Amino acid sequence: MSRLTRITLLLIVLALVMAMTLGERLWVRGWSRPLEVTIYPIALDSASAAFVSQLRPGNYQEIESYLVSEGRRWKKSFPAPRLKVAQPLRELPPHMQPRSALEAIQYSLRLRWYGFRHTPFWASLGQVRMFVLYHEPTFNQSLPHSLGLQKGLLGVVHVFASDSQQAQNNIVIAHELLHTLGAIDKYDASGQPLNPQGYADLHAYPLHPQQQAEIMAGRIPVTEHRAEMPHSLADTVIGYATAAEIGW
Ligand SMILES: [Zn+2]
Repeated sequence: MSRLTRITLLLIVLALVMAMTLGERLWVRGWSRPLEVTIYPIALDSASAAFVSQLRPGNYQEIESYLVSEGRRWKKSFPAPRLKVAQPLRELPPHMQPRSALEAIQYSLRLRWYGFRHTPFWASLGQVRMFVLYHEPTFNQSLPHSLGLQKGLLGVVHVFASDSQQAQNNIVIAHELLHTLGAIDKYDASGQPLNPQGYADLHAYPLHPQQQAEIMAGRIPVTEHRAEMPHSLADTVIGYATAAEIGW
């Protein structure tokens, strides 16, 4: 194969990937068809494997109902999203904490390659794929950062394998799922929700304490400088800025 042919082929592949990425993004943001989300549970250790093997759609039902009820607040005609749970995957997605724009691109490509190898290609087109990694719950342990990529509609979420953590896990999954649809974070460097876009109720008087969290701000502002974790998705809302970012 000549050099020119190789470069031409590579350019065609790149153009196809870019067209596919753009097409998928327009497709999901159009909201004319039901948003389809597949959860791929992955156990990180033997203790979590037993927990993961008994996961059912019911464990994530709350996320589906949340999207329906929040969607109906912002968008009148709105086909209900569908959430499915796939068989657990054995191989782990690539792990990397990107420190530069170039590393972020590399990571995104590696994650897309992982998705291509471990999920059905045609059935996944235009669908969000969330890889949910279950860790054994241990005291005082912090989890690696979760992420949701708009390019490729992929998310990697780290959660604890415990029934008592289910409500918290669903908050993290919903947050990263909204990232894949184009939503951006709404908190500052110290984790405090941004005013006004990170507040659930801007018309509350007094403004603090707020009763709920904006989902992309992640916490409930109880004072101007202090915020608390919500207990479940019921304590969160999709605010006006997030709604606009995801095309509602
Ligand atoms: Zn985020």
